[in-house]
Amino acid sequence: MSTLELVRKEGQPLDETGETPALRIRGLTVSYGRSPAVFSVDVTVPKGSMTAIVGPNGAGKSTLLKAALGIVRPLAGQVSVFGRPLSRARSRVAYVPQRASVDWDFPTRVIDVVLMGLYRELGLLRRVSKADRARAAECLERVGMADFADRQIGQLSGGQQQRVFLARALAQDADLYLLDEPFAGVDAATEKAIISVLKALRAEGRTVVAVHHDLSTVPEYFDRVLMINVRKIAEGPVDTVFTEEALHATYGGRLAMAGPGAPVAGAG
Ligand code: ADP
Ligand code: MG
Repeated sequence: MSTLELVRKEGQPLDETGETPALRIRGLTVSYGRSPAVFSVDVTVPKGSMTAIVGPNGAGKSTLLKAALGIVRPLAGQVSVFGRPLSRARSRVAYVPQRASVDWDFPTRVIDVVLMGLYRELGLLRRVSKADRARAAECLERVGMADFADRQIGQLSGGQQQRVFLARALAQDADLYLLDEPFAGVDAATEKAIISVLKALRAEGRTVVAVHHDLSTVPEYFDRVLMINVRKIAEGPVDTVFTEEALHATYGGRLAMAGPGAPVAGAG
């Protein structure tokens, strides 16, 4: 069957491997004010891949994720998830926001934060069952936080909180995981724990997209990369796309030490 026939059969454009992509964005433009934060960006994320989104502070990385989730309304563009409009695939997407964006003044136990991941499925009115609790506990176990189930989330360290948010996303049992700087400000043990969970998700055939600010770990952690600075600079396998030239085009003068193996290029 030719590619064109495949396209016709599915009624849906395919990725380079001939499958319906996990995430497909076309012509995405988002603007908060006068100048666009994201301009005319196309992205294709193949199923089962692990993609890093890199770019300088203010490059529109978080905005891109939020538009992919329908949290911000784009000026133009289309988003499809597993070949469907976002509105019909929302339950297949889990999101871990940038940690600084959550404020826990209200006392909330860790286990309840994880149970929030189940609410979409449970509905707000259904009672939380023993099985739900067991599943939440299992998700905490996967991120190495089983012993903290009854602690207040506000009392945990930043890295511990980040693991709990990941556990909440795991409880959603999604097929596409979008994470905004999951490693920012976490300790080495947490980074290890998180990356091994993400790699396990990929091994299960799930798709992971993460905004990532540490260029030195891109080749080790990810198989694909999307480089943006308002516009898309490059997209594809890390091996072929993550070059010094592309890094310069993405970071311009702001990158002091370019290239894989260099330290951090400024978080944001
Ligand atoms: P990144 O995550 O790459 O650092 P963001 O997507 O957060 O970048 O921001 C892109 C641009 O949009 C920045 O110039 C930022 O100041 C602006 N921006 C982000 N969120 C808002 C908002 N809610 N209102 C107005 N401007 C915003
Ligand atoms: Mg951001």
